[in-house]
Amino acid sequence: MKYVDEFRDPQRAKSLIAEIRATATKKWVLMDVCGGQTHSLLRHGIEQELSEHIELIHGPGCPVCVTPAEAIDFAIRLSHRPDTILTSFGDMLRVPGTSDSLLNARTQGGSVKTVYSPIDAVQLAKQQPNQQIVFFAVGFETTVPATALAVLQAAELNLANFSLLVSHVRVQPAMEAILRSPDNRVEAFLGAGHVCTVAGFDSYSDLTSEFQIPIAITGFEPTDLLEGILNCVVQLEAGTFDVHNAYARTAAQQGNLQALEIMDRVYEVTDRPWRGLGTINDGGYVLRNEWCHVDAEEKFADAAIVSTPLPILQDGGDCRAADVLSGRLRPHECSEFGTRCRPDSPLGAPMVSSEGACAAYFRFSPPPRVKTVTSSVETGTL
Ligand code: SF4
Repeated sequence: MKYVDEFRDPQRAKSLIAEIRATATKKWVLMDVCGGQTHSLLRHGIEQELSEHIELIHGPGCPVCVTPAEAIDFAIRLSHRPDTILTSFGDMLRVPGTSDSLLNARTQGGSVKTVYSPIDAVQLAKQQPNQQIVFFAVGFETTVPATALAVLQAAELNLANFSLLVSHVRVQPAMEAILRSPDNRVEAFLGAGHVCTVAGFDSYSDLTSEFQIPIAITGFEPTDLLEGILNCVVQLEAGTFDVHNAYARTAAQQGNLQALEIMDRVYEVTDRPWRGLGTINDGGYVLRNEWCHVDAEEKFADAAIVSTPLPILQDGGDCRAADVLSGRLRPHECSEFGTRCRPDSPLGAPMVSSEGACAAYFRFSPPPRVKTVTSSVETGTL
């Protein structure tokens, strides 16, 4: 398939793996930031293939996993209002709030509807003028332009019954928070290609110079990831710390200017709590004042978000999601992994979400289910 096959070329993958093995003189610790990268690294056996030379740890790059329990609780309360329909991406439904999930809320009579895009929620608002339609706006910079567009579209249609429950987060401040944590082990980052496609990576140079750490922007195909890993290893061995774009076919330094302009019309940067990481300075977006009438938190203040004291460092119970999301614990090292915690009986968000690291490990690892990048390419199962 054009545009894909070349990034799954087994010969190229083999040669990159050989080069990484030959270059690394010690076991470097690299963090992938995005859940899509985590899944790809495991699905294609890259983690396994490089395990003697690179320790791959996985960051907070699952938007569903980092949505605070309190925001889910608020969404649940909204779903129980008689005049309100809470709309959300399907991934959010099973993620536990403080004590319940949207899925349970639906079985208990709450109005919760799955949509595929925020524009579907706008359409619903148009079709059901007597209902308040709230879209649960979660996700990184990748989903922010679409929710901003929904706000603009609802305004054009003069819809007074559409609003957003905003829990959007920004990736770079979270990377910085991880680097600043006293037990940080990350020596290089694989930057999330799709986030950089929207937001650009101009400001990553501040991170590389302040923390003297290489960052390679990668896509999600095997050779994308391997090129990024190789670049990080070459830099670490040489003691350099630059931003390298291994996803140049999509990501540009300045990002997508049109998307950024739309985001800027609707949102501004704010401090925001991340589940597991606490409040991160400039770690999210909030609707600008001029859009406060579409802010569900203001519109439905009677159901207001009740914050627990921050930082929220751990989910309740036995789930160690906070450690997983901050790269301190690899999923299969959690004592509940694969026993009490499985995709059909998840204890925490990283096992619920399709982008969650625990779900990735359950699906693709540990051996013997793991397969190697070269063999999976050769058998055509990639
Ligand atoms: S395996 Fe389950 S219990 Fe353990 S951290 Fe992951 S989601 Fe939480």
